[in-house]
Formats: sequence, C-alpha cells, structure tokens
Amino acid sequence: MAKRDVYEELKDLQAEMVKMISKFEQVQDEVTQTLEQNAELKIENQHLREVLRSEHNESLNNSAEPQLSKSRQNLEKLYEEGFHVCNFEYGKRRENNEPCAFCLDVIYGER
Ligand SMILES: [Zn+2]
Repeated sequence: MAKRDVYEELKDLQAEMVKMISKFEQVQDEVTQTLEQNAELKIENQHLREVLRSEHNESLNNSAEPQLSKSRQNLEKLYEEGFHVCNFEYGKRRENNEPCAFCLDVIYGER
C-alpha cells in the first residue's frame, strides 16, 4: 500500500515538473518578446529624436532668416499683384508680368 503511494507521488511530481517546464518556457518566450520589443522601441525612439532634432534645427534656421519688414512685405505684395514699386514706374502695371530689377532691388535690396 505504502509502495503504491510513493509511485503515485512520483507520478504527481513528474506531472508537476512537466507543467513547470512548460510554464518556464512560456515565461522565457515572454521575456524574449519583451526584450525584442524593447530593442525596437529604442530604435524607434532614437529615430524620432533625430526627426525632432532636425525639425527643431530647421525651424531655428528659418526663424534666423531675416524677415522682410512690414513695408517691404506690402511692396512685395503689390509687385506680386503685377505693379511696379520702383521709383521709376511706381504704381504702373508691369507689362506681361515682366520682372523689374529696380522693383526687386526696392523689395529685396540691401539698404
Ligand atoms: Zn519697377
């Protein structure tokens, strides 16, 4: 009777060990997946940081560019609408939207 109990106990123990091994493998898979995911997120994070940094730099560069003054912006608008803003032909229509070097100098030239 006692001998049979021992066999039963061994069988139970074996069944439990099989269960534990399968549980162990399951957890091992989860750890592997988590590590892989972590590595992917690290790469993605790095990539996003680079995108953010380059966009930040771009906007810094853009804001560093000199802006046209308000009055020059108005002249630029007039010019784009097809009028001369230079001293020679001020207010006259630019024929066929021809570019005028004098106008461009007034709008964009150094002063
Ligand atoms: Zn002009």
